[in-house]
Amino acid sequence: MTERYQHFINGEYVAPSEDRYFTSTNPATLEELYEAARGNAQDVDLAVKAAHSAFTSSAWSSLNATQRGHLLRRLGDLVGENAEKLAMDESLDNGKLLREMRGQMAALPEYFYYYAGLADKVQGAQIPAMNPAILNYTQREPLGVVGAITPWNSPLTLTTSKIAPALAAGNTVVIKPSEYTSRTVLLLAELADQAGFPAGVINVVTGFGAEAGAALVAHPLLAKISFTGSTATGSHIASQAASRFIGCTLELGGKSPNIIFDDANVSNAAMGVIAGIYAAAGQTCIAGSRVFAHKSVYDELVEKVTARARSIVIGDPLADSTELGPLAFAGQLEKVSSYVELGAKEGATVLAGGCRPEGLELPGYYYAPTVLTDVNNDMRVVREEIFGPVAAIMPFEHEDELLGMANDTEYGLAAGVWTQNLSRAHRMARKLEAGTIWVNTYRAMSPMSPRQGFKNSGVGIEHGLESMNEYTRLKSVWINT
Ligand code: NAD
Repeated sequence: MTERYQHFINGEYVAPSEDRYFTSTNPATLEELYEAARGNAQDVDLAVKAAHSAFTSSAWSSLNATQRGHLLRRLGDLVGENAEKLAMDESLDNGKLLREMRGQMAALPEYFYYYAGLADKVQGAQIPAMNPAILNYTQREPLGVVGAITPWNSPLTLTTSKIAPALAAGNTVVIKPSEYTSRTVLLLAELADQAGFPAGVINVVTGFGAEAGAALVAHPLLAKISFTGSTATGSHIASQAASRFIGCTLELGGKSPNIIFDDANVSNAAMGVIAGIYAAAGQTCIAGSRVFAHKSVYDELVEKVTARARSIVIGDPLADSTELGPLAFAGQLEKVSSYVELGAKEGATVLAGGCRPEGLELPGYYYAPTVLTDVNNDMRVVREEIFGPVAAIMPFEHEDELLGMANDTEYGLAAGVWTQNLSRAHRMARKLEAGTIWVNTYRAMSPMSPRQGFKNSGVGIEHGLESMNEYTRLKSVWINT
């Protein structure tokens, strides 16, 4: 019989108010994995009310910041102890390589430790007053119940980036994970319970965006929404949050440029292009999907990237030798193939991929690593986020022309630059309109380093010291001494 998961509310598994469940499927084999509760507004109401009463309960509110840090540290330890199971479950759910998920789970405890260390560093300041008899100081307070809505591509890492600072600052949380990856987030809530977090501090309602997600955003007791997902959904959530004057942190889509100058080490750059666009089958927000190569190295780069794209080992995400797994679900496969078809109609040349990999026995949602050339900034394949293994490679001649093309996008999440010229590296870092710039590397990330999406790629900051402020409000106190 298929394993069934209920919501996790107020420290225990709770059946959905309507007896409805949905199935999670392995995207490599198309086998059914488990069922999760299909949450509705009533389930969300139960969870938010549990989080709201936990926020004021003495079990949580009487803990000092150092004690909250200890709880987070214990949770980090438990995540580390369960890393292999969590990695396996995420890989089965979203089709990412087990090796990559093992890497993510090995790093995940560090996220908890980092925020554990920040818990007792949240502080206000004493402000000089015009009247010397007045003592004016500020203090930072938690907001209340924080809603966290997350996507399927890195379920636990992206959930942790929200809930760890929220909890460190003294909030309580209700998480609505992606309907494609419910299981590991439920397991995280169980581990939090084992770590000693009071009941109701961490709650999970599983289900679909339009039902459980929308109900969470609309709940009147919610103090803040922290969302990672597509720009379209983020825009909808932002307008709802604005109408109720609650804060939101949004980490959204991208169409990041990866730029190779004439003085770059082209072999290294080609590997950076490959990692930037084919890791996780291109299903990363930071995918370097627009590749700009100086015309003097364009042919060499295209040749190297195409040769590697054609030789990537595609197969079972659990096998050590596999380099590319499936897309996460049927809709992803339809989206990616229709974009490549559209690109070809718009005049693009498909140098590699553009189809299901040949000879693959697994029935899943596989798509071969794809290279498009003869593309330009007016084409939809270059302007819109495909979220799949599709690189569009374009030549450029002058730096100004390159900057014009690289910045001509609604997105501003990340950018890669490959050059040996230090001055140029700094100049590009200054002029590229993106929240993260990588020079002679791509995809580096850590909980210590703040990241912010520019333009339509987001609002607010995740990671780093600044992210703590996203989960607090500032109070100014004036005392007549
Ligand atoms: P999505 O927007 O479809 O869904 C994200 C989450 O929102 C899911 O949990 C979904 O159920 C929920 N949701 C959907 N509609 C909702 C609604 N009306 N109200 C409330 N919740 C709703 O995105 P996705 O397909 O899961 O993820 C892929 C997208 O996420 C890509 O655009 C990618 O670039 C982006 N992403 C961004 C980052 C980042 O840090 N910037 C990281 C990872 C993914």
